[in-house]
Amino acid sequence: MRIDELLKKKEVTLSLEVFPPKPTTAFENVNRAVKEIAALKPDFMSVTYGAGGGTSAHTVQIARDIKDAYGVNSMAHLTCVSSTKETVEEQIQLMRQAGIENILALRGDIPDSSEFPLPEQFHHAVELVREIKEVAPEMCIGGACYPEGHPEAVSKGEDIRHIKEKVEAGCEFLTTQMFFDNSIFYNYMYRLREAGVMVPVIAGIMPITRKNQVERSIQLSGSCVPARFKSIVDWFGEEPAKMKQAGIAYATDQIIDLIANGISHIHVYTMNDPQVAAGIMDNLSAILN
Ligand code: FAD
Repeated sequence: MRIDELLKKKEVTLSLEVFPPKPTTAFENVNRAVKEIAALKPDFMSVTYGAGGGTSAHTVQIARDIKDAYGVNSMAHLTCVSSTKETVEEQIQLMRQAGIENILALRGDIPDSSEFPLPEQFHHAVELVREIKEVAPEMCIGGACYPEGHPEAVSKGEDIRHIKEKVEAGCEFLTTQMFFDNSIFYNYMYRLREAGVMVPVIAGIMPITRKNQVERSIQLSGSCVPARFKSIVDWFGEEPAKMKQAGIAYATDQIIDLIANGISHIHVYTMNDPQVAAGIMDNLSAILN
């Protein structure tokens, strides 16, 4: 099912994200995790696509299995900055052949150019959105947005102007970068709507369940860490079982607050961990029905 239709049809939705195997991980382990996460029956699952060729090889296959073998709606991510037009078109055709209806159109992070010279055929996600519209106009396209501003953006206002361009080019919904302070998200929503960006926005929540995730997630996303969250990591960080429970509780609390404030579409970055996905879904079982 197209995600724009799902978001219109269902009052509250919860989607979960998985990533394909890294060169160092076994495909079987990822497959098992994907199957267990799909068994929780989220509204849809999205599958990431590694920039620079890293973990992109199995994205379409996993998204197809989620839909065909496990009966859950799926979305495939696609990045463009490290790819040629030919590779991008090939990927779109593969998705089409696999019956995938939803693509998250992304620029991707810019790799170190000394290691990987860029083809310079795509510079921004908006160009990928236009490409998909041309090659496969039937696809439902989503885009990324950043409540705290994209780390490279000149200003938050400029960043929102570029989000608006993506929507005008054909993005039917947006999914946010992770954030740990809901008030930042509410403020961002106000600014998006004020700028005339009216498509549905899915709030991206990352349950931090291991101490070593904190630094990396924050470095990648540039997200602020509220004092309440910091004390959880300080207090429970060295004890894995306690940190996991506290991280799931913090993410659940964020989601309940979002839903109670009218933000009813939630995406959880479950990082291939079925226990984390199940913990969140269990905590929300009545709310999601
Ligand atoms: P863009 O929309 O192109 O924006 C990037 C920067 O360029 C911003 O600062 C923006 O303000 C600026 N900009 C945009 N358009 C223009 C323009 N026309 N002129 C000048 N400046 C402009 N990465 C992966 O590698 N694989 C994934 O699967 C993946 N999934 C993601 C899912 C979500 C929900 C999110 C939030 C991020 C994901 N990422 C993924 C990371 C993403 O690729 C990076 O954040 C990347 O740096 C930016 O991608 P974008 O699509 O937001 O880029």
